[in-house]
Amino acid sequence: MPVSSACRTFIDLATQRSWQDAVRTLNGLNMYEMLRALKVFEDADRAALRAAMASLGGAVNGPRIEYALTVVETSHLPATAPGDLASTGQVQDARRFLRHPKCIFVETTPRGEIGLRNDGVSSSGNALMQRLFGAPRDAYSQACQAVTNRTLAARIQTASVGPFRATGLDSAVAALTAIMTQIQTRQRLVYRFLSSAGMLCARNVRGSTTSVSNHSWGCAIDLKIDSVLDARGDGVAQYGLELIAPMFNDAGWYWGIDFPTEDAQHFEAGSALVQTW
Ligand SMILES: [Zn+2]
Repeated sequence: MPVSSACRTFIDLATQRSWQDAVRTLNGLNMYEMLRALKVFEDADRAALRAAMASLGGAVNGPRIEYALTVVETSHLPATAPGDLASTGQVQDARRFLRHPKCIFVETTPRGEIGLRNDGVSSSGNALMQRLFGAPRDAYSQACQAVTNRTLAARIQTASVGPFRATGLDSAVAALTAIMTQIQTRQRLVYRFLSSAGMLCARNVRGSTTSVSNHSWGCAIDLKIDSVLDARGDGVAQYGLELIAPMFNDAGWYWGIDFPTEDAQHFEAGSALVQTW
């Protein structure tokens, strides 16, 4: 479900390590969002959050937040619940969370509710890619196949881009590494949950027999958040993708959320950028 503005504020404050303001905001979240928001933290962040909670004293409902922290840390329901958590259904919320303990970044937002997207960046179509780099191979299917174009194949490399290793065009791998550094700086909490669902893959666009995917040139990446792949074509995008998309756009990469068939997991080097490669 769409992440509330209060929860977004909490994530922003925590990202900046403004812990006292973060705790005040956290205090107002419902149990559904509180558990999933707390799930984004590692030990050091939880320690900082607890220190801020202690310094705020009775200004926040400490026992309720501590209950949620314990659920997230231990993956078990505490034997007792403080205050009205049981009678107000919040223990039930915690039980449901433990059945699918994913962080807040996998929650989704309808495409139309996401602000500025792909401003000044456009997808690099097949004609442009073929002109710049040649055809990766002669024929394609829905499966990943080898690049048979020798000139292009010579430019394919595998390297760590930060949170994971990726195989793609040399220039794209370098650009992706720089983007990941930006994400680590500006969205450090999302960075921890990033993994790849594939970069180089010579195939057709899913569901097409004529359109070649930009993965075929190793210039596109599909991302998972907390090991969850954003479903294609459902018109919504994971909150984590929403938070990092500006870093891709700033670097000249196009976000697949605006494809005719929404593909929010997909980012590709935009048309202006590939012309510099
Ligand atoms: Zn893709």
